[in-house]
Amino acid sequence: STTWQGKRVTVAGLGVSGMPVARVLNGLGAAVTVVNEGADERSRTQAAELEAQGITVRLGDGATLPEGTELIVTTPGWRPDKPLFAAAAEAGVPVWGDVELAWRLRDLDGRTPAPWLAITGTNGKTTTTQMLASILRAAGLRTAAVGNIGVSLLDVVLGEEQYDVLAVELSSYQLHWAPSLRAHSAAVLNLAPDHLDWHGSMEAYAADKGRIYEGNTVACVYNAEDKATEHLVREADVEEGCRAIGFTLATPGPSQLGVVDGILVDRAFVQNRQKNAQELAEVSDVFPPAPHNIANALAAAALARAFGVEPKAVRDGLKAFRPDAHRIEHIADIASVAYIDDSKATNTHAAEASLAAYDPIVWIAGGLAKGASFDELVQRSAKRLRGVVLMGAERHLIAEALARHAPEVPVVDLDRTDTGAMSAAVREAAGLARPGDTVLLAPACASMDMFANYNKRGEAFAEAVRELAAGHA
Ligand code: ADP
Repeated sequence: STTWQGKRVTVAGLGVSGMPVARVLNGLGAAVTVVNEGADERSRTQAAELEAQGITVRLGDGATLPEGTELIVTTPGWRPDKPLFAAAAEAGVPVWGDVELAWRLRDLDGRTPAPWLAITGTNGKTTTTQMLASILRAAGLRTAAVGNIGVSLLDVVLGEEQYDVLAVELSSYQLHWAPSLRAHSAAVLNLAPDHLDWHGSMEAYAADKGRIYEGNTVACVYNAEDKATEHLVREADVEEGCRAIGFTLATPGPSQLGVVDGILVDRAFVQNRQKNAQELAEVSDVFPPAPHNIANALAAAALARAFGVEPKAVRDGLKAFRPDAHRIEHIADIASVAYIDDSKATNTHAAEASLAAYDPIVWIAGGLAKGASFDELVQRSAKRLRGVVLMGAERHLIAEALARHAPEVPVVDLDRTDTGAMSAAVREAAGLARPGDTVLLAPACASMDMFANYNKRGEAFAEAVRELAAGHA
């Protein structure tokens, strides 16, 4: 165990991650210095608050390693190629993220730590983590959905409340900085190119995701339809007896969960030796019943079953679950056209999943591409496109892919990046749509060129749809 009294710890970054980390470490008696790149007004306010508690803060310099640093705890968003980390490597100073810190502190003061059921993947993390928590609750377990989902692991681990088990969403950034984390069981839902600018390469991104399996004790859950996830399980160093469990939308093999005649079945955790499959729930118990969401349900069920949850609780938990806003959210039907908000589709892989769920579609897309290519997405979705409306800073990348692979599909290029463009986009989409069509906001891009975040983008869409409905009334 670590002795914190007087330990010289440097916290990299203020903000929502750095502030609580600095406070916790200071409370443990560590000598804390926070380094922060910016020196804007918000940073100065935060710095003043920490300094009042005896914490040293250096504003406007995130690159220099403070003298005598024994440990760095970083904001997960800081890129690994920053000079501070090069200096740390040179000096032999370890770097942890806030998840690693929470993991190390989970048994502080003799607490009994709750096991972690961990989830990562390019898409579906939040949904699957919430489904899992819903199932665990249905089983009568004290649990919470935590981590990248927006609930600080540090708060949960150090809080008063007792848990039997935690449903933990982890991002690739958090995994990168969590070297000693060991989950009870973990799932990688899928792997597609995303955040490559941060990780440097697809290999580095995959390796960080694969970290989640290291040291698992009971099950490594992988997507049997995504070879890359299975490969990560094979590479992982796990505890003896830990099993590889696949999930598939097809008929499951042994040690898999899958779908047979509209029923989710488990062939991995079957107690009764007479039976070779256990029925868990019906496909129609999962909402929305889109294929990618059935996959999420199977992954959540696999983790719950690995923890010993009974089939009935899996069913009850799935039935009770409803996804968060802006994830394939039905906003309205206007003139027999459905308007769907999937603003959370911030990359091509997520957009492809929602485009696969409708036909014909008027697709609203565009924003910040994060270095992605749109060729495959457009190729695979072209047949279902009635028309496309583009907006945002890097819409030309989508326009070019459409010109290459779907030249017959009508495209309205709004040539706008102002917030009001959403209302124009919805009007244009309504003009392209015919009765029975779906107008789908699935931008395949990040939102920050036009909106504060994907929530705001989705709200703008819903508002524009309501305006359109008012015009029809
Ligand atoms: P994350 O937390 O990984 O961003 P969410 O559950 O918030 O995942 O969903 C993000 C987006 O990805 C949504 O737009 C949703 O439609 C899509 N999505 C959800 N699950 C999957 C999946 N298993 N495969 C592909 N896309 C998915």
